[in-house]
Amino acid sequence: MARIVQKFGGTSVADIDRIQAVAQRVKQSVDAGDEVAVVVSAMSGTTNQLVGWTREISPMHDAREYDVVVSAGEQITVGLMAMALQNIGVDARSWLGWQIPMVTDDVHGRARIDEVRADEIIRRFGLGQVAVMAGFQGIGSDNRITTLGRGGSDTSAVALAAAIGADRCDIFTDVDGIYTSDPRIVTRAQKLDKITYEEMLEMASLGAKVLQTRSVELAMNHRVRLQVLSSFIDAPGTLVVDEEEIVEQEIVSGIAHSGNEAKITLVRVPDNPGIAAAIFGPLAESSINVDMIVQNVSEDGKATDLTFTVPKDDLARTLEVLEGQKEDLGFERVEGDPDVVKISVVGVGMRSHAGVAMRMFQALADKGINIQVISTSEIKISVLVSDTYTELALRSLHTVYGLDAV
Ligand code: ASP
Ligand code: MG
Repeated sequence: MARIVQKFGGTSVADIDRIQAVAQRVKQSVDAGDEVAVVVSAMSGTTNQLVGWTREISPMHDAREYDVVVSAGEQITVGLMAMALQNIGVDARSWLGWQIPMVTDDVHGRARIDEVRADEIIRRFGLGQVAVMAGFQGIGSDNRITTLGRGGSDTSAVALAAAIGADRCDIFTDVDGIYTSDPRIVTRAQKLDKITYEEMLEMASLGAKVLQTRSVELAMNHRVRLQVLSSFIDAPGTLVVDEEEIVEQEIVSGIAHSGNEAKITLVRVPDNPGIAAAIFGPLAESSINVDMIVQNVSEDGKATDLTFTVPKDDLARTLEVLEGQKEDLGFERVEGDPDVVKISVVGVGMRSHAGVAMRMFQALADKGINIQVISTSEIKISVLVSDTYTELALRSLHTVYGLDAV
């Protein structure tokens, strides 16, 4: 007997047939003697439609009312899921975020969970009842409905799992696990049996959209064992776990890519103390996240070029902010390039193995791919290259690190 959270995403509850199918899946676990809490997303497409309506009525809408509207999709699916379970003889009831309560801060639209008071859920496990909780929503200290940001029901599920001390949190989706690379591009990508929290965190923030990044952080902090698996087939997925649980650790576990970056180059920036602060300060004030940065030494001791990346959606705004500061900063000109991709090699094994970066650079050089920017962390090396090389770079690196399926 285990205590588990089963979370079903939008495609897994897309229509009545799907809801009935996943109810059967829940019943299997209940019949096996497990204590089950179910977390659901809205039917796929619903949240987008709700968001669209809020924009249509007013682009500058009240964020508190936005949350009232966009949280509605989950209210429908919890009720339907509880009914579907009752229909097949499983005692179940629905729970909205405020009924638990799932207590969050007051940052409407992207609230963070402060506390989950799940005593009543646990008490009802003792009575054999399945809790069906609405993902994505909570209640703020202002006593109003909040939402956790797009994709937030993953985070709801992990938070609930941590609160009830679940043995596992299963995230059911439309892919059967986490892959060594994007299988739509790298046909020889393989499903991983296990991946560490840290690697998953890097992969998620690098654009592997399977899990909300925040949910992985939360799972890592509370040591919640996660499993990503498909609700469409009956097979184990990928476990996201602590490093100690992985016996044979590959040096590199995956190659991720993100097309969501744009490159900015400031040409001939004065090479003075304080210039980086003067450049990045105004960007931070405009809530523009700078990711990779390179600055070279100046040949003449006077001026140097500075290159960095920002989210593609913020490219125009970044250029605007910098142009506005041109006089003060004293650079010659600013250039923006959206046609770039960030390719990252991820693996906890890098900590203890030398030469991982060298192999990456060599592999790219062998294919004639020019590296524009490099950044590293303890378990990741990222390079920025022209996006015309996305496929070539991913496939070559996948082969070089021995990740190809045989
Ligand atoms: N329904 C919400 C969304 O689409 C939350 C989720 O699905 O995780 O963002
Ligand atoms: Mg999702």
